[in-house]
Amino acid sequence: MNNHSQRKGILCVVSGPSGSGKTTLCRAFNEQDPDCSYAISCTTRPIREGEVNGKDYHFLDEDEFLARVEAGDLLEHARVHGNLYGTLKSSVIEQVENGKDVLIDIDVQGAALIRENQDPVISACYVDIFVMPASQEELEKRLGGRGTESAQDFDLRMQNAREEIDQWEKYHYAIISGTREEDLQKFSSIIHGERNRARRLQASPQY
Ligand code: 5GP
Repeated sequence: MNNHSQRKGILCVVSGPSGSGKTTLCRAFNEQDPDCSYAISCTTRPIREGEVNGKDYHFLDEDEFLARVEAGDLLEHARVHGNLYGTLKSSVIEQVENGKDVLIDIDVQGAALIRENQDPVISACYVDIFVMPASQEELEKRLGGRGTESAQDFDLRMQNAREEIDQWEKYHYAIISGTREEDLQKFSSIIHGERNRARRLQASPQY
C-alpha cells in the first residue's frame, strides 16, 4: 500500500517563545523531508537584515495585511510583539487535502485560533507541538545572543516568552529544547508517529 497517497496531510502547528529554536527546527525538518512543506506567513514587521521577502515571510504593510484579512485569505492572524502576523489559507488547505504535510511556526494566539477552528478539514489534520528552552537562563542566553533586538525589544520578548510558556500544556506535544540534533530527532518521531495514526488513513489497506 502506498501510505502517502492514502492519507490526508498533517497540519503541524509549532509554537514556542522567541529563542526556543522552533523556526530553525521547522526549517531543518522541512529540508530533510520531501513530504512536508513549510508555510510562509505574512507579517507587517520590518524585514531584518539577511531576510528575503517571500522566503522568510511575505512582508506587507498594514493596509495590505488588513486587505488580506478582509478578503478571507488568512486561516488565522494575531498581533505579536506589536506587529501583525498571519497564515495564508492557500499555504495549508490544498496541501493537506493532497496528502502533503504542512508545518507552520506561529504564536500561541494563532495556535489557539486554529485549534478552535470547527472546519472538518482543519480539525482532522491538526496537531501541535510546543518547543521550549530548558530553563529561564537558557532562554535569556538565546534571546540575548540573537543580537537583532534593542534592549526594549528584548524585555518585551522576555515578557511575551513567559506568557507563551504559560500555554504549553494546551499542546499535544512538548519538546524541551536540547541540542539541534536532539530536537530534530524528537520532532521527527512526533511527525512520523502522527503520519501513522489510523484516523489519517483514507481507505482500508487492500489485502
Ligand atoms: P519573528 O518576527 O521573530 O519571526 O516572529 C515573532 C513571532 O511571530 C514568533 O512567535 C512566530 O512564531 C510568530 N509568527 C510567525 N508567523 C506567524 C503567523 O502566521 N501567525 C501567528 N499568529 N504568529 C506568527
